[in-house]
Formats: sequence, structure tokens, C-alpha cells
Amino acid sequence: MANELTTQQKALYIQRNGVNCPVCESDDLDVIHEEIAAYRAYRDNKCHSCGAVFTETFTMTDVELSVTPAE
Ligand SMILES: [Zn+2]
Repeated sequence: MANELTTQQKALYIQRNGVNCPVCESDDLDVIHEEIAAYRAYRDNKCHSCGAVFTETFTMTDVELSVTPAE
């Protein structure tokens, strides 16, 4: 198995909202680790069909107020 995803595999994975394994396209995936560091979040997934482990990277895109600040 190749050690890196191609640009095409990455684009397809993102386009499909991360539902299918980027290597074998199985939907038998589980999140095995999540981490938030500064303004980025990382999530490791494992595919139970082909054994691939791959990391998604998320960036902060918005912030919303849920509690009114004290006056
Ligand atoms: Zn797979």
C-alpha cells in the first residue's frame, strides 16, 4: 500500500465529506483519535476494510456567541 494519498484521493475524500476510505472507498471507518491544538483540529480514522489509518485536518471557520456577556 502506498504511504501517501494522491491529490485526487484527497480531493475526492473531502468532496464526499469523509464518508468513504480514501484508499479503498469502504465506509467501515472509525475515529481512533481526536486532538485540538490552537486553531486546528486533527482526527485519526481507521478503515476496517483495508487497514488504512489516515488523519483529517480541520481549521476554524467561524465563532458564535452562545452566552450573553455580563454588562
Ligand atoms: Zn480502506
